[in-house]
Amino acid sequence: MTDNELGDLPLDDFRKAGHELVDWIADYLENIEQYPVLSRSQPGEIREQLPTSAPVQPESLDSMMADFQNIIMPGITHWNHPHFYAYFSNTGSVPGILAEMLIAALNVNGMLWRTSPAATELEEVTMAWLRQLLGLAADWDGIIMDGASMSSMVAIAAAREAVEGVDVRVKGMTHAAMPQLRLYVSEQTHSSLEKGAMVLGIGQENVVTIPVDGENGMDVGALQTAVLQDIAAGKRPFFICATIGTTSATGVDPVPAIADIAQQHNLWLHVDGAYGGMAAIVPEKQHLFAGVDRADSLVVNPHKWLFTPLDLSAFYTRHPAVVRRAFSLLPEYLRSAETDAKAVRDYMDYGVQLGRRFRSLKLWFVLRAYGQEGLIARLRDHMRLAQLFGEWVEESSDFEQMAPIVFSTVCFRAHPQGIVDETMLHKLNEDLLNAVNKSGQIFISHTKLNGRYTLRLAIGNIRTTERHIAQAWALLQETLRHRQTN
Ligand SMILES: *Cc1c(COP(=O)(O)O)cnc(C)c1O
Repeated sequence: MTDNELGDLPLDDFRKAGHELVDWIADYLENIEQYPVLSRSQPGEIREQLPTSAPVQPESLDSMMADFQNIIMPGITHWNHPHFYAYFSNTGSVPGILAEMLIAALNVNGMLWRTSPAATELEEVTMAWLRQLLGLAADWDGIIMDGASMSSMVAIAAAREAVEGVDVRVKGMTHAAMPQLRLYVSEQTHSSLEKGAMVLGIGQENVVTIPVDGENGMDVGALQTAVLQDIAAGKRPFFICATIGTTSATGVDPVPAIADIAQQHNLWLHVDGAYGGMAAIVPEKQHLFAGVDRADSLVVNPHKWLFTPLDLSAFYTRHPAVVRRAFSLLPEYLRSAETDAKAVRDYMDYGVQLGRRFRSLKLWFVLRAYGQEGLIARLRDHMRLAQLFGEWVEESSDFEQMAPIVFSTVCFRAHPQGIVDETMLHKLNEDLLNAVNKSGQIFISHTKLNGRYTLRLAIGNIRTTERHIAQAWALLQETLRHRQTN
């Protein structure tokens, strides 16, 4: 037996397949509009075409690529399609794709500084770059997480660590001196906050949901009342989440007023800007971020609206030492001289994960490939397109806008003249959504605003242009007309 038989695949094969793969990716991106955006696959259809157990004998790269093309691709919903407008659209950009190849090739585990100094130091540098782009002061420290859900959970864990006398780290949640911890969100807050509270043992019953005040975000009066009531009842308020760019309607909570209450009652203020937070890099949108400098933590997602492939969430905090206190644990086998000398940072101390991907490399590529000006110009254009689409909706007698357009997302619905029954409008819009999505030409999603079924068009893919939204608008109008005449 030679060395080669048990080693990796021959590099000549890699070279050949790798070149073909890059060509495949370029062709895919070039021809992406030929694919239906939403996969037409039926439940189980992909699974049924695949063997029920792994192959015993090796298979060729060619056969894998053929199956990828024939079996897997039909089961793909094309997030990189310029007509993807559902949820919040995102982008696997060219610099991001290239960096992902290098990340896999190096396969670095950035748990300690020592396990790849560049991974640690590039994370420090890219998080500082992004911090500056966002307009945050130098006392904010950035840590890369897999997603905003994890970032917000880490924020809750840090906030709990900061509560005097709680000491969950050592004593757990059930010791005699444990107060009943209370966490505040709005009815529009992302579900990840409640999930974080579930996981951390705060409990769903202690997640207090504050109503929103029309277009003005969280009702600050109701928040103050809820906090005071809890204090009077002997409970311990400790955490409040404000959102900039809510998931349904991209609303903005009144952060300065919430910061006042947080300060008054010593609550940890976390700002969820997973989607909308990215707009802070655009000068004329900076006013939406008033008060964020008074928060304790902030999450923004470059993997949502900054052209960085999944996954990369940027968690910022002004209290990295508290985060570290909540998560650091040093077994003997992870000790290193430079850690003992306190000369370096080990990112394993700032979250749940030990092994960490070299995610900063792709953000570095993205920030450099477009530059500050290029990023601002692209976000600005997405917001321009959303305004334009909103104008078309407003001008149409068959559609109406359902929420103000703050960023790059339009909430709207079909509302032809003469139809007043809400049940009928719900059915009409649900049918419209299903019909346009089934056409394969666009993919939009929905939400409910004030109990009303609402369509959402979220613009965020780097390839989406005015031509695309004009096509989407034409399709929606045409599909509605067709439904009404049939
Ligand atoms: C998308 C989103 C999240 C969740 O982000 P993940 O990275 O998928 O965990 C949280 N909050 C808001 C406001 C979001 O838009």
